[in-house]
Amino acid sequence: MTSLYDNIIFGPVRSRRLGLSLGVNLLPVESKLCNFNCIYCECGWNEEHPGRRRFNAREDVREMLRATLSRMVEDGTPPDVITFAGNGEPTMHPDFEHIIEDTIALRNELCGAAKVSVLSNATQIHRPDVVRALLKVDNNILKLDSAFDATVQVLNKPAGNYSVVQTVKLMKQFQGEMILQTMFLRGEYCGHTIDNTTECEVSAWLEVVKEITPKKVMVYSIDRDTPCQTLEKVHREELCSIAKRVEALGIECSVA
Ligand code: SF4
Repeated sequence: MTSLYDNIIFGPVRSRRLGLSLGVNLLPVESKLCNFNCIYCECGWNEEHPGRRRFNAREDVREMLRATLSRMVEDGTPPDVITFAGNGEPTMHPDFEHIIEDTIALRNELCGAAKVSVLSNATQIHRPDVVRALLKVDNNILKLDSAFDATVQVLNKPAGNYSVVQTVKLMKQFQGEMILQTMFLRGEYCGHTIDNTTECEVSAWLEVVKEITPKKVMVYSIDRDTPCQTLEKVHREELCSIAKRVEALGIECSVA
């Protein structure tokens, strides 16, 4: 069973990749809103969520975040990280930049050691306001699951035009101030065999990693229920051998 986050602020949860993480969901609390429809999305298929497509208001996010951070600090358990994720793509929010500014101000006021992270599918990095915002956060984590458009079409099912070449070009504007995140998996979907761990996929992806030169790469595989039922988790040893090839390029790589 896939599931939604039922509030603007969620958690804290102990994240494999980020530590004690307090989540911020800018998307609707009762439905998913994303311009990808990844076959592994923990929120489920977009088609299952025809509900209200309303972003959470900047003021509501700020007030709820203030209240939760204050309580956590009072309890002696401030978060390690404030993570923008939730029921879809956070950078689609029209006020994303201002929300990031509010969040950084609250972090500085209440829990200066916490990092601010954004998990994004990188589809909005053509917008100058989104780029400015992502350059302000500690962990600008951008998704790219394959170097091949055909694989992205099956794996991520993007709405509208999507091109790996264009995405890579836009990622390069961060000049290394980004973390590249890639989901590795195998399975079948609508008659397509999916496997982004083949030598052909991994070597092309490594070329793209080299071109982007992020400060770090995160590789991971499925962990929770996925809407496509035939997906197979890639084992840690295999992810570690991919990570070693990234590290051979001189780029840090973590395996979650
Ligand atoms: S980009 Fe994230 S939220 Fe959007 S469909 Fe993919 S996994 Fe789900």
